[in-house]
Amino acid sequence: MCLGIPGRVVALADGYAGQVALVDVEGAQRQVNVGMLEAQPAPGDWVLIHMGFAVEAIDEAAARTALSGLQLMGSGRAARVRRRYDVFGLVQGVGFRPFVYVTASELGLAGSVCNTPSGVVVEVEGDPDAVDVFGRRLVDDAPPLAEVEGLHETDLPTRGGTGFSIEDSSGGAGRTLASPDVAVCEDCLAELADPLDRRYRHPFISCTNCGPRFTIITSLPYDRAATTMAGFEMCAACRAEYDDPGDRRFHAQPVACPDCGPTLALDGPGIHDTGDAAVRRTRELLADGQVVAVKGLGGYHLACDARNEDAVAELRRRKQRGAKPFAVMARDLAVAEGLVSMTEAERGLLTGPRKPVVLLPRPELSGAHSVGTDPPPDNSEGGRRGGRRAGVT
Ligand SMILES: [Zn+2]
Ligand SMILES: [Zn+2]
Repeated sequence: MCLGIPGRVVALADGYAGQVALVDVEGAQRQVNVGMLEAQPAPGDWVLIHMGFAVEAIDEAAARTALSGLQLMGSGRAARVRRRYDVFGLVQGVGFRPFVYVTASELGLAGSVCNTPSGVVVEVEGDPDAVDVFGRRLVDDAPPLAEVEGLHETDLPTRGGTGFSIEDSSGGAGRTLASPDVAVCEDCLAELADPLDRRYRHPFISCTNCGPRFTIITSLPYDRAATTMAGFEMCAACRAEYDDPGDRRFHAQPVACPDCGPTLALDGPGIHDTGDAAVRRTRELLADGQVVAVKGLGGYHLACDARNEDAVAELRRRKQRGAKPFAVMARDLAVAEGLVSMTEAERGLLTGPRKPVVLLPRPELSGAHSVGTDPPPDNSEGGRRGGRRAGVT
């Protein structure tokens, strides 16, 4: 039997030479072409209608079967479910809302996502299977920096709608985890070094996957208005990136560029340089054995050339830090490995997204003298701070 809509013939229509019948379909009378049936149907006969043609004469039982099949199809298609997911853990400032937006859009789900003081709340509505898949992907495919610690599901009455939106954060009480600052990512480093990129040599480069978080947050939920970036209005180009779901800076709160973001300046006795000139002058000062205070995200770092014994001695004197080791910055892993020895796990820490200060043993023999004369002999460990956070602590 063909798949179609069952109807019951009421009468043959006048004037069509028996080719057209009036057929009752679920209480509504329709004109149906019955010309392709082998025998002309009589009033009371059941027929199966396919694309407006009666294609098969059937009995009532077959009609009931077809009808129930149709209802099943209809209910399958019509059924939508709406579910709310309360997500807890490290889910703010890690690209979670953009990830939810993209995932829901891929699955054709309507709804919204917003940050709350407790975490992230998502409501999705659509095909039940798609909603289930969405719930699994929420945990399994979460962005690399996110840590989903808890997920509550609540089924809600459907509301309809087709679009998915990122809503303004809702206020209220609660507690969520703010993301720590994340070291600059490979993609941003590539842009930083690309003369054709509009963020070429932009010292405050960041994206959804990297950049400042905790130290720029003034309150939660995490939104630009609740960060120290609130005072920097995005330019049109940055706004376009921020609004584009396909962009790496989609809903990245610290997004900025040389046209609209913070700028670099160097001040000192008789010195006021900005931009690249500030970087050049800083390099000269460091090479000259000076100590430079670099304003980082969480405070000032005092920096000097670690290979210059006089500069390190001067820093120790001013910091009154006679014996304690300083953190040492290295350009990359190769440079660091020339100064200290490290295990695979330690290597992973230095190159991972968090790039913490890692305490590493100095080799017994060579290399120890390539970084000043410090730390002193009673201290066999030097520290190294990686990533973009300039300075020696
Ligand atoms: Zn990045
Ligand atoms: Zn901009």
